[in-house]
Amino acid sequence: MASLSLRHIYKVYAGGVRAVSDFNLEIDDKEFIVFVGPSGCGKSTTLRMIAGLEDISAGELYIDDRLVNDVEPKDRDIAMVFQNYALYPHMTVYDNMAFGLRLRHVPAKVIDEKVQEAASILGIQHLLNRRPKALSGGQRQRVALGRAIVREPKVFLLDEPLSNLDAKLRVQMRTEITKIHHRLATTFIYVTHDQTEAMTMGTRIVVMKDGIVQQVDTPTTLYDNPANLFVACFLGSPQMNIFKAKLVEENGDLYALIGETNKVLIPKSRALRLVDKAVIGSDVLLGIRPEDVCYEQALVDAHPESVIEATVDVIENLGNETILYLNVEGKEDYTIARVNARYTFNQGETVKMYLATEHAHLFDAQTELTLMGVPDYNLIPAQAVAIENTLAVLFGDVCVKLPEGLLNRITDKAAINNKVMLGIPPTALKSEGTEGAVCIEGVAEFFDNYPRFKAVYLSVPGLANKVIMACPLDYPFTGGENVKAYLDPTQIQLFNIDGERLIAERPVTGNTATGTVTDVNGVVTYKFAGINGGKNKLAVEGVDGLKTAEADTPLYILPHGMAIDKESLAQHPKMVLSGVIKALDEYHKDAIITAEVPGFDEDMTVIIRNFSGYNVGDKIKFAVNPHAVIVDKYESFVEAVKNETAQAEGEVRYKEIVLAREKERELEKLGVAENAELEEAATVTPKKTAAKKPAAKKTTATKSTEKKTTSAVKRPAAKKK
Ligand code: ADP
Repeated sequence: MASLSLRHIYKVYAGGVRAVSDFNLEIDDKEFIVFVGPSGCGKSTTLRMIAGLEDISAGELYIDDRLVNDVEPKDRDIAMVFQNYALYPHMTVYDNMAFGLRLRHVPAKVIDEKVQEAASILGIQHLLNRRPKALSGGQRQRVALGRAIVREPKVFLLDEPLSNLDAKLRVQMRTEITKIHHRLATTFIYVTHDQTEAMTMGTRIVVMKDGIVQQVDTPTTLYDNPANLFVACFLGSPQMNIFKAKLVEENGDLYALIGETNKVLIPKSRALRLVDKAVIGSDVLLGIRPEDVCYEQALVDAHPESVIEATVDVIENLGNETILYLNVEGKEDYTIARVNARYTFNQGETVKMYLATEHAHLFDAQTELTLMGVPDYNLIPAQAVAIENTLAVLFGDVCVKLPEGLLNRITDKAAINNKVMLGIPPTALKSEGTEGAVCIEGVAEFFDNYPRFKAVYLSVPGLANKVIMACPLDYPFTGGENVKAYLDPTQIQLFNIDGERLIAERPVTGNTATGTVTDVNGVVTYKFAGINGGKNKLAVEGVDGLKTAEADTPLYILPHGMAIDKESLAQHPKMVLSGVIKALDEYHKDAIITAEVPGFDEDMTVIIRNFSGYNVGDKIKFAVNPHAVIVDKYESFVEAVKNETAQAEGEVRYKEIVLAREKERELEKLGVAENAELEEAATVTPKKTAAKKPAAKKTTATKSTEKKTTSAVKRPAAKKK
C-alpha cells in the first residue's frame, strides 16, 4: 500500500528529446491510476521513471513521503508487468512465480503459500505444473501478474499488459485486473493507449499528449467536462462531433449558429457555465457527442429550437445500435449519430436531428480550451494602480493590494496604472478569511461537484463572468445565499492585454551588469565588467539613438527585450548573449527563463513567447534587441511603482474609478426605481412603456462596454497540470 507524489517531473533523453514535461500528480493509496494518450506521449517513460528503470531528469518522486529519485528499482517496493510478459520458457508456472522470491532467499514454505494464494486469486491453480508454451496468451498474462502479486509490492505498475491479447480476451482480462485491484487493495498505475481500458478501469485517468498532462480526473468528469478539445476527442467512441459555430445572444438566450442554416439553443444550464462571456459574438467550437445527436421524433418535436437538418450518407447497423454518418451544412467532416437500431434509414435521405445541447461542450477556437467548467484562473478585467507604495488591482468594489514581496516578481513596468487581467485561481478563494485576505462578495448561483471539490459559481456585482470558488465537498450550498469569498493576494496572477503573465515565480532582478559603452564610427559596443564579463560582448552598428557611457556604468536589459528564434539571432549577429538555463517557469507556450549569463551580477530573467526545445541546464543564446539595453540608470519595478509620479497618477485613476462606480450605482438605483415605476405604469397603460424604453437601453449600453473591455484581452492558456 502506498501513496505517490510526482512533483515537476521532466524526462529529457540524450539528444534533447523532451519526453515528459512538468508532470505533477498526487496518487492516493489504493488508487487505480491510468495513464492514457496516443503513442509517444510519454506514458511509458513516466511509468519507467516511477519504476526506477529510467533516470528522472528534473523533479522529485516520492513513494510514501520518501524521496526515491536515487533509490534502486529493487528497493522501491514496486512490481512491474509488461506487455511482453517475458516468462522463463524452461520453467513451470510455479517456478516462474516463485523465481523472484527464491532470489530473495524467502523460505520455501512462505514461497509456496504465496504462490498458491496468487494462483487462487488468478484462477490458475491447475496450470502450476505447465510450461509457458503450453499456455494461452491470457493464461501467460495471468502468470506474469502472478509473478508480481507474490512479491506483495506497494505499487503495481502495468505497461500495456493486454495489448498482445485478442479483443475478447482483453475485455475479460480487463475485468479480472479490476477485480485483482479490489482484492489486493494496492496502488495500481496502468499505462494504455486504449481509451476504453482507461474509462473502464481507472479510478482516475491522466490524459497525456506530447509529454504534457492534459487533464487528470475521474472517467466521468473527463467525459462530461473535458478541459480541452484534445481530451474531448480522445475519450469516447465514436468521437465527439465538433462544429465550427458562432455564439449569439438573442433575447437573453444563447444560440450557436452552424453554417448558414442551422441554429441551436444553448440552454441556460450550459450558458451559465461559460467562463468568459466575451466569447459571445465570436467563433467557437461546439462539441456534441454522437449519443446526443438524436433522431427520436418526440425529442425533435419537443426541442424545435435545437434541431438541425442533415443528409444520411453512411449507415452502419451494429445490431444493438446504428451509427449514422451525416452531412450537415457548415460542417466539413461527417456528423456522427448513435441511434437506436430499430429505425431504418436510406442513403441520401434528409433527416431532422435534435442536438441535445444540454450536454453541449464549447471550446475556444484558438486555444482549444474549454469555455465551460473550472478554469485555472477566474479572469477579471481590472485596472492596476500605483497607490500606497504598492501596486493595487481594482475591479467592481474590490481593491487587491499586492504584497511587497510580489513586487520584485513583476515582469513588465507597463503594468503600472494600466489595464490588466486579474487571474484568481478558484482554489485561492476560501470561505473563511485569513490575515491579509481580500473579501469578494457575491451570490452563490449554482454548483458542480468534482471529485475533490465543489465548484460554486458566484455572481459578483459589476462582473460579467461568474467567479468560481473551489469549496470543500461538504460546503453547505443552498443557492441564492450571499457569500464572502476571501482571496489570498499572494496567489493571484496578472496578465497583460496579450495574455502574457506579469508575475514570475522568481524575482526579476538579475538583468543588471556593469560595463562600458562606446561608439566608434557608428559601432556601439557593450563590454561587461562583471564575473567572466569578457565572455560576453555586444556590438551593433547602424542603430540610432543608443546611449554610450564610460567604464563602470550600470546596464540593464529588459526581460522582454530578448529572443531565441533564428531570425532574431541572425538580425544583429553580434547582439547575442550566451548563457545557461538555471530554471524554467513555463505556462503553456510562454516561458520565463532564469539564466546564468557571464557578465551579469545575478541570474538574468528572459521572457520568451512560443518557447520550446530547451531544458534546464542547456546552453542558450539570446538575441538582444538594441533598444532593450538601458544604459546608466534603470529604475526597478519596485522603485517605479513607488515613484511619486506613478503614485500621483495612480491616486487620480483610483479616485476616477471609485467615483465612476458610485455614479454607476446611483444610476442602477435610479434604473431600478424607474423600472418599478414602468412596471406599475405598464399594468395600467401599456402605451407608456413604449414611450419610456430608453431606460432599458441604458443597461444594454453598460453591458456592451463591459464586453468590449473583456474581449480586448486574450484568454491566457490553461495551466498544464
Ligand atoms: P508512450 O509510452 O506514450 O508511447 P514513450 O514514453 O515510450 O511514449 O515515449 C515518449 C517519447 O520519448 C517519444 O517521442 C519517444 O520517441 C521518446 N523516447 C522513448 N524512449 C527513448 C529513448 N530511450 N531515447 C530517446 N527517446 C526516447
